[in-house]
Amino acid sequence: MKQKLITTLASLGAMLCSASSFAAQTQVIYAGSMLSGAEQTLEKQQTIVIENAMISRIEEGYVSISELGLSDATIIDLKDQFVMPGLIDMHVHVTFERDANVNPHRWLTEYEADYALRSIKYLQRSLDAGFTSVRDLGSSYKVIFPLKRAVERGDISGPRIFAAGDTITPTGGHADLHGYRKDISDVISDGLGVCDGADDCRRAVREVIKSGADVIKITATGGVLSNTAAGVSQQFTDQELVAIVDTAHNLGRSVTAHAHGISGIKAALRAGVDSIEHGSYLDQQSIKLFKKHNAYLVPTLLAGQTVSQEVLSNPHMPVAIANKVRAVVPQVEASFKLALKNNINIAFGTDSGVSRHGNNADEFQWLVKYGMTEKQAIRSATIDAAKLLGQQDKLGQLSVGKQADIISVNGSPLDDISTLKNVQFVMKAGQVYKQL
Ligand SMILES: [Zn+2]
Repeated sequence: MKQKLITTLASLGAMLCSASSFAAQTQVIYAGSMLSGAEQTLEKQQTIVIENAMISRIEEGYVSISELGLSDATIIDLKDQFVMPGLIDMHVHVTFERDANVNPHRWLTEYEADYALRSIKYLQRSLDAGFTSVRDLGSSYKVIFPLKRAVERGDISGPRIFAAGDTITPTGGHADLHGYRKDISDVISDGLGVCDGADDCRRAVREVIKSGADVIKITATGGVLSNTAAGVSQQFTDQELVAIVDTAHNLGRSVTAHAHGISGIKAALRAGVDSIEHGSYLDQQSIKLFKKHNAYLVPTLLAGQTVSQEVLSNPHMPVAIANKVRAVVPQVEASFKLALKNNINIAFGTDSGVSRHGNNADEFQWLVKYGMTEKQAIRSATIDAAKLLGQQDKLGQLSVGKQADIISVNGSPLDDISTLKNVQFVMKAGQVYKQL
């Protein structure tokens, strides 16, 4: 037994070594079909050359290594595959996953390391599902930034992480801690990100950035999954919102606002946020504000569907939460359709953690069901997501000079979006993580 374990560890070590040296080598992918460039035009029989984690050349036809003028390269045969850019999920919570069967008070007994260790499998599943980049919108800074660094070092496998760290919320707001005695919550929550008044909110934004935030996440309105009957209307004042956006932008961070109720959506857009998460109640006026500020909507349709199912099956869901699910989720379809009809920028986001990590691609079927073309849905998770991330120079498309984040599926997702649920090949920054 012991001998077997040692052999397994030795072969694992060899695999890891070969994976890293593999990435340094020149690789050549033969792609049967491919979504190419910023316009994502469908090309057949393409040769993609990958050097130093980047796409260095793309040639028509299947070009041999000698014809490419290379002395040595690893060939990856995807001639029977549909090859496309790695997917980007703009709204996940890497450090948790809802599970109605788990003791809801488990978190009172656990340390940050418990969260981090559980997150390793969530990250692995997300990468296996073809998501090569994720934006984490609300996880403790003590867990998410160490995880991000572990992925960057290659200690664990996962998508590239862009993270908000702790959410900026008013006292008693959606991202504050609810449902416990005040003296208990005071001990458990360090209150990073909680602020009241314009000056205090400037301080909170600065503190969250100091803790490592790549992006600022705020709760502009109440939320569905907080155990409080506070509704889903505006929670920050206009002055607080302006102070938050102004401070974040001055420090080079974009701001995304969790917002359901229309008053909070409009107030956040007027204050200049870069995107709205959920956007459950949109109206014509808010559409104008989206356009005026060139803001994005991240609709998270999967989250609504997931919690609606949970209301039916989980008798222990707190009444305050169940009532909000019943009120908010039926609004989502009409709001999404209004945004789509008016050509609002839409970026793909799932709120995974509410749903299972690794099922992120389920969002595509809702986007298409509610009116997006397959091509629009793919754009929302590639080029458009990269733009909202401010990473369009590096991510979101297969072009020379971009990061080699490349996935493949069997069959064309342009004909059947559900093919994206079965990703066959995953490369991130030139390193192969999955090849079926
Ligand atoms: Zn969320």
